[in-house]
Amino acid sequence: MALIKCPECGRAGVSDHPTAKGCPGCGINVYKYLEREKYIKRRKQEEIWKKEGKCPNCGSDNLANVEDSYKSRCKKCNNIFMTEKDYEILGKIVERRRKEDIVRRESMRHDYDRWHEERMEMQREMYD
Ligand SMILES: [Zn+2]
Ligand SMILES: [Zn+2]
Repeated sequence: MALIKCPECGRAGVSDHPTAKGCPGCGINVYKYLEREKYIKRRKQEEIWKKEGKCPNCGSDNLANVEDSYKSRCKKCNNIFMTEKDYEILGKIVERRRKEDIVRRESMRHDYDRWHEERMEMQREMYD
């Protein structure tokens, strides 16, 4: 708790105490303003860590895979999360399954077409 310069309007001697009234210059709640800044900074840091394949909670790169999932677990703080890499891997798996599905469906249709053709052939032979 201190008297600081207002981060919004620059007015000196403004309190950053949670229960303090708004800045006399611009009216902002300095405490909330600073908390929000801290929160934004923290979120940005988390994004960077995630991109680097690190724990978004503590920045450690000592990670383990969580069994039967695409998630990572931080060995240091036990945080469970998905890094950018995890999302990439999951995306590739989904893409591959989708392709396999298309191939399977196409081969099923092919089998059906052949069966249908053979049947028509037999019918033609029977009625001719
Ligand atoms: Zn102000
Ligand atoms: Zn961690």
